[in-house]
Formats: sequence, C-alpha cells, structure tokens
Amino acid sequence: MKKIPYGRHNITDEDIQAVINVLKSDFLTQGPSIKQFEDAFAKYVGARFAIAVSNGTAALHLNAIALNIKPGDKVITTPITFVASANCVRYCGGEVVFADIDPETYLLDINKVREILENDINKEIKGIIPVNFAGRVVDMEAYRALADEFNCWIIEDACHSPGGYFNNMANQKIMSGSGAYADLSIFSFHPVKHIAAGEGGMITTNDEILYKKILNLRTHGIQQDPEKKIENHGVWYYEMQELGYNYRLTDFQAALGLSQLGRADEGLLRRKEIAKKYESAFKNLSFIKHQSGVIDGHAYHLYIIEVDRRSELVNYLREKNIFVQIHYIPAHLMPYYKQYGWKNGDLPFAEKYYKGCLSLPMYPSLTDLEQEFVIDQIRNFYAF
Ligand SMILES: *Cc1c(COP(=O)(O)O)cnc(C)c1O
Repeated sequence: MKKIPYGRHNITDEDIQAVINVLKSDFLTQGPSIKQFEDAFAKYVGARFAIAVSNGTAALHLNAIALNIKPGDKVITTPITFVASANCVRYCGGEVVFADIDPETYLLDINKVREILENDINKEIKGIIPVNFAGRVVDMEAYRALADEFNCWIIEDACHSPGGYFNNMANQKIMSGSGAYADLSIFSFHPVKHIAAGEGGMITTNDEILYKKILNLRTHGIQQDPEKKIENHGVWYYEMQELGYNYRLTDFQAALGLSQLGRADEGLLRRKEIAKKYESAFKNLSFIKHQSGVIDGHAYHLYIIEVDRRSELVNYLREKNIFVQIHYIPAHLMPYYKQYGWKNGDLPFAEKYYKGCLSLPMYPSLTDLEQEFVIDQIRNFYAF
C-alpha cells in the first residue's frame, strides 16, 4: 500500500487550468481574482465581508490588531489547537489565558471560560478565541451571550470548519464564519485544510468598520478608500495612515482557492462518508473513544479517536505506511508558553486527551480500499 497521510490536498486539471489562466493574465497579485475569491467565499459561509490574506496566521494577526489587543490585555483560548490561535495575542503583546477543554467534545469548555471571566476582577480579559476543533463548530450563540455579559470580543478560529455549522436555539442553521455571532472569523488554505491554495487565509465578518480597517492593514496601513484620504497630491497619491503589513494573497493562489471552493461541498460529503465508516468500524470498544455529541454540521477536518497504547499504535501504523498524526500537543505545554508559568497539571482534560488522541486519515481522495486498509490494521493491532 502506498503512503497514506492523515490529510491531503486534491488538485484537479480544472484547478491547474485556473492557475494557468492567471499566470497568463496581467495580474499575478492585486488583480481581479482576489475579489472574486473573497465574494464567493463570503457567499459560501453567508457573511457580508471577506478579506483574503497570505495565510491563516496573518488572518489572526490582523484580527488581533483590528481588535486593538495591547500589552496588559488578556485573551482566552483553548490549548487543543494549532499554536497560531494563541500566538496572535502575543504578537500584540497580550497575555494568553488557556482554558480547559470539554473532554467529550474536545472544544473549549464554555463553563471554564465563564469561571475565568467571573474571577477577572480587574477586567483584563478582552476577548475569546474559540476554535472549531477538528471541524466541530462551537455553539457561537452561547459564546456571544457570554462575551456580551463580560464586554469581550470573539474571534472564531474556523480553520477546521469551512462548510460546517451548528443549530442555534431558534433551530436556525448557523454557518461557521457567517459572522452571525463572532466579531471576526478566520480560515486557512494550507494544503491539509479543506480548501488548498498552497498558503492562504480568509477573514470573514459582518462588521463593516472592522472590514475596512483590516483591508487597510493588509496593505501597509495604506488607505484603500479614496474618500478617506486626508490629502490628495494627484493621481499618484497614496497615503499610509497607520502601521500595517503586506499580508496579501496572490491572484494565482486566489484562483486555485476559488476553483477548490467550487468542490467544497462535494469534499464535505465525502468527509462525512469517511467519518461514518470509521464510526461504525470502531463502535462499542472500550479502548477506542470518539469525539462525542457529533452533530450534522461537523466539517470533519480531522477524524479523531482516543486510544490505549497510543505510541505503540502510531509506530505500528507507520510501519504499514499509514501516517496518522497527533492534534495537538497542548499549546500551554510548549516551551514558549511554559516560560510564562504554564505547566503540566494546569489543564487536566487537555493533558489527558493528548495522551490518547490520534487523527486517522481523513481527506476526500482517500479511497474506500485505503480506508479499509487503515481500519484492518487497527483491528490487527488490537486483535478484535
Ligand atoms: C492551520 C491553522 C491555523 C493557521 O493557518 P496557516 O494558514 O497555517 O497560517 C490556525 N488555526 C488553526 C486551528 C489551524 O488549523
């Protein structure tokens, strides 16, 4: 069997043609493909505005600046995420407060977040960054109510959940990234994610003020709206009004992203099929636990199980050319965060989860045969 990774991009001839078309056009960057991708993405998630950026981390950084995180500010997030979710707070000199996960859903536990907010007597906590971990969308309606109570903003890290949703109390389907409750949402187009653009990211929001601010910050803080310029020296004139960055996406990446977006729903259906098959293969086993409370809106970026003898199983599968992965090493236990006082024992559910978690191969082009091979090897290992 050839190498089976945990995640993989899928590039079609149509994708390649879309990139070639841009390479033959007048614009490699700052051209029309950017707005086309942004508009299509905004429509896909049901948000008013979308801003394409160079990667998901840049998206987080721009959000952190736009929300005005300053030294002394604190922001709550989950330790079971890619480190970028937390790092954006540090880029602006803020302090990261990790709160433990719910051991059943693996998501940031809203009750723990509430506890921390209730004990924040000096009102240092300014925001919350929930993560739709593995593709399971958090109940953003509940987070909005909590954030409003404590005057906090919300960044939804939706890197794992394009096309995912949850149902709110009125039983409406609320798309991940729709801006219905979060102030800002972010996505990544790294090849392991649902939509691959090589590198790339997207910010979505319904807030026009934040939208315009981030548009300026994406391009050096140069005012993008001609009417907002303070002076005007002529047709050549541009005006830098604040300190920004170059976090732009190229047009050929945008064209690739747009082409991939056209197949996103198809990919999502395939991911759900794969999930169902894993679920039934490993049902009712004392040594394999699943992410529970699984909902229809799960976008299945990852299919995670918690297992006994995890290290041994990882090595066994590698020998069979199956490259399962661990998501994630708790962020608070990274040497960087340990220097701020975080230590083993601080977040027991996240730490226990890390000891057993395993991400099985999950991507639309995984064949039935390959998936059956993966399942068989796990059966062989545990002999059931
Ligand atoms: C991938 C990812 C990011 C960062 O995105 P990049 O495009 O790699 O910078 C942030 N948060 C989560 C949860 C991710 O999975």
